[in-house]
Amino acid sequence: TLRWGLIGASTIAREWMSDAIRSTGGEVVSVMSSDQDRAAAYAKANGIPHATTSLDALLDEADAVYISTTNELHHAQVLQSARAGKHILCEKPLALTVDEAREMVDACRAAGVVLGTNHHLRNAGTHRAMREAIAAGRIGRPLFARVFHAVYLPAHLQGWRLTNPSAGAGVVLDITVHDADTLRFVLADDPVEVTALTQSAGLSQGSVEDGAMGTIRFKSGLLAQFHDAFTTAHAKTGFEVHGTEGSLIGTDCMTQRPVGDVLLRTATGEELLPIDRTNLYERSVARFTAAAHGDGEPAATGEDGIWSLAIAAAALQSARTSQVAAINPEF
Ligand code: NDP
Repeated sequence: TLRWGLIGASTIAREWMSDAIRSTGGEVVSVMSSDQDRAAAYAKANGIPHATTSLDALLDEADAVYISTTNELHHAQVLQSARAGKHILCEKPLALTVDEAREMVDACRAAGVVLGTNHHLRNAGTHRAMREAIAAGRIGRPLFARVFHAVYLPAHLQGWRLTNPSAGAGVVLDITVHDADTLRFVLADDPVEVTALTQSAGLSQGSVEDGAMGTIRFKSGLLAQFHDAFTTAHAKTGFEVHGTEGSLIGTDCMTQRPVGDVLLRTATGEELLPIDRTNLYERSVARFTAAAHGDGEPAATGEDGIWSLAIAAAALQSARTSQVAAINPEF
């Protein structure tokens, strides 16, 4: 049994990850918050035995940590956890800069601990089915992808994501990173450049963007379009890949729940692909736990986290400069 420490008394740990840890055989032994009263209240409400404001105290008790603080804190918390020899499942974006993310991956490698990035969408049955269909040649040569990930940021999450650039606010670091990772996973291809425009439609404050559209070119030549927002309450999410011999049309699949369908359309007609409905976060934790025991890799590794951040950072650079931006994670 892995004994887990939660770094960050967060919504995602409360809504999804504590259950995912417990239902895959792990134990949540402690939670760390910047505020002792908040830590204690969170621990009580979520059945966690210990609450602390000390990262050292949390690390003393844990075999593994799940980091879901705001984005600017991930870097230092990963470095300290790695130094303590703990396996680390870290939320996306791994950090605010690609250099920091690289330093985190290097530190975990040097310490001999597993680092996973919690890109849940790789674990969705829909995306795994699309990846398999493409690998099996069912749509021929993939030419285009389109990602529809414009959602409405729920009222209880309308905080730092909209207001605080130093915490890594904005829809690109929040949502485009997921699109980027899902595209790399489904297509088994890496991107080379991106162009993007961002929008601030009034939900976010100051220079923070609450909407984005862009296009990514992949090594194969494939072009992928993304549309991300915090501001659209009635859009449907989706993920499509169009190839020379067929199209994959995923609907309602850019989501936390194991829902959504994938339609394959070819010259012979249409079929819905069979979809595994395993909980995405449970699969993420299960893969991470196996890796911590020496069996395989996390579903999304630290390197995958560098890639998704590199793509998001390049998209922000493109929006800022009105230029196409190269994507170079420099491994
Ligand atoms: P939250 O805003 O819920 O939590 C982030 C931090 O904010 C917490 O660590 C906590 O600080 C503080 N906080 C939270 N609620 C309160 C409150 N009521 N009063 C005071 N402080 C509060 O963030 P999320 O859970 O939405 O996101 C956390 C991380 O997880 C981010 O990196 C995000 O990108 C990622 N994420 C990933 C998802 C995925 O599916 N992979 C989905 C959602 C988020 P403290 O710990 O100091 O108490």
